[in-house]
Order: sequence, then structure tokens, then C-alpha cells
Amino acid sequence: MKIAVISDVHSNLPALEKVLEAASGMKIVCLGDLVGYNPFPNEVTELLRDKGIPSIMGNHDLAVLTGDTKGFNPIASWAAEWTIDALTEENMDYLSELPVSYDNEFYAVHGSPNKPLKEYVFPDHPPKILSSFFDRTTKSVIALGHTHIPYQIDLDEKIIFNPGSVGQPRDMDPRASYAIFDTDSRSVEINRLDYEIDEVSKAIKEAGLPGLLADRLHLGW
Ligand code: ZN
Repeated sequence: MKIAVISDVHSNLPALEKVLEAASGMKIVCLGDLVGYNPFPNEVTELLRDKGIPSIMGNHDLAVLTGDTKGFNPIASWAAEWTIDALTEENMDYLSELPVSYDNEFYAVHGSPNKPLKEYVFPDHPPKILSSFFDRTTKSVIALGHTHIPYQIDLDEKIIFNPGSVGQPRDMDPRASYAIFDTDSRSVEINRLDYEIDEVSKAIKEAGLPGLLADRLHLGW
């Protein structure tokens, strides 16, 4: 079975629509950060909910639920405050029920198995710590989000991968990023898709969100 793994959608509706279209017919799993940064938090939350896509909680989802943006840069905080005002009560309720982990065909958390909502795991993470993540699960494949950088790390027979970010890629490639995990061959494929960045940057400006959030989408940073 092929599963499309998406993460860090960050209220970017045009990017999410493109990815869902490409993944149609596949099971889809979302690794958190549904909201934050971009101007379509309700549309994104409702689309994921209505399609019955299992999602886990990200640090930006938690920040809009608690109002606690400690550790966020000023622009991320600004966007979180804006999102709190914009989100409907129904969508807040949906976010508040997101679980912290996904444990089915593979194990997934937003950040790291040790600190699910906080720790960033990049490909150069110490191998010893990467191996220790498997103490927390019986699964041999772990999927992580949070960094907005797509990668695959092979540790003997075990795999850790990150699908990158749908809504705010940070590897200098502005295209939406997602992964397809094949449960039979246990292979991971990272895919990139063009989408209408101009539509989002225009909406960012109209919403009164910082212009830097629009600029960075075009740069993939
Ligand atoms: Zn994120």
C-alpha cells in the first residue's frame, strides 16, 4: 500500500490542494502544523478534517490552542496571534483533539520521539540519538516533520524520514514537498509540486500578515 505523508501545511490552501490532488486515491497521513504563517487556517483545517485525513499535533497547532508562543520568532508569533483570531471555534476544537503521535503503518510524531512537539531532527542529528528513537516504538519506520526539510536516514534496517513541508518549504526549493511511503517495499519517495505561490502571497498581504512570510515562500526558505 502507498501512503502519502504530508506535514507542516501551515494554512497554505493552494499548496495543500495540489498535494491532495496528486495523492488522490492514496491513504494520506498528516504530521502536524496544520496552521500558522499563512492565511488559510480554517480552509486547511476543514479540508483535512472533511477528507478524514489522520493528523497529529504540531507546535504551531499547540501554540494557537494555548496562546503560548514562547520560543517563536516575532513573525511566527504575529502569525499565531492572527490565526487565533481567525480560527472558528469548531476548528479550534478539532485542533485540540489532535493526538501527539501516529502509530499504525509507521510511527510518527511532529518533532522527535523524545520531545514530540519541540525537538528538531535534521539529517546530521547524532546517530546514537537517532537509534534511540526506536526504543519508543516497535515500528521500524519513523516519520517526523517540524524541520520543513525533506530527508531519509537509513539506520541498518530502520528508516527515519521527513516529508518536508507542504506549505512553507525551507530547503531553498519553493515547491510543495511531501512523501510517498510504500508499505510493501518500505521505500520512501520525496515528491515536489509547483503551486500558485502568488495566490498565497497576495492573500498574506491582504490579511495584513508580515510581507516576509510572502517573500520566503518564493525563495523556499
Ligand atoms: Zn512547521
